[in-house]
Amino acid sequence: MAKKGKQLDIPIKAALLKSPRAVIQTITSNVQGLKFTKVIQTYVMESNLLKIQLLREGRVFSQGDVIWVGNKENTTEGVVICYQADRKDMKQIIPNNDNTMDAILDANKFILKIHIMSRLRCAVCGKPIEIFDSELQCPICEAKGHSDHFREWIKMKSSCPVCKKALTLDKNEYPIMAED
Ligand SMILES: [Zn+2]
Ligand SMILES: [Zn+2]
Repeated sequence: MAKKGKQLDIPIKAALLKSPRAVIQTITSNVQGLKFTKVIQTYVMESNLLKIQLLREGRVFSQGDVIWVGNKENTTEGVVICYQADRKDMKQIIPNNDNTMDAILDANKFILKIHIMSRLRCAVCGKPIEIFDSELQCPICEAKGHSDHFREWIKMKSSCPVCKKALTLDKNEYPIMAED
């Protein structure tokens, strides 16, 4: 339950860009009574205590209960947060510097508030890469695209859509430089 008291806003963006462990440390040192189970690097909430709100231009456009905070699959930096919106749809977000303007933990109301933006466009389809989208990047020029689009492009063209250097996919389907 929300307690009355002074506003307690804790900056949490740096932790979101770092690791699940950093996020959980920031939350548990500011919010009492949060219980979770740790499964490898994924922290699964044991209650619906922690809420999440996504805000665009100051307005909430999606919110729900945080279900788990885990690792991104292809890199050690950053986190994936899974939440249940309106007690039905499960959604995953992947905060980064291109989609997250700011992030605050409201320690009075137990709400993780993420102020999002869409700064980056997919190098393949030209549409924005949103916080819900998984992305891949060129290992040479760092051009980014929606994962599906980037993989499809490499499969068809064997090159980067931006720098045109030869690329291939490794066994996990991540882009790597092609060997001649
Ligand atoms: Zn795309
Ligand atoms: Zn490139």
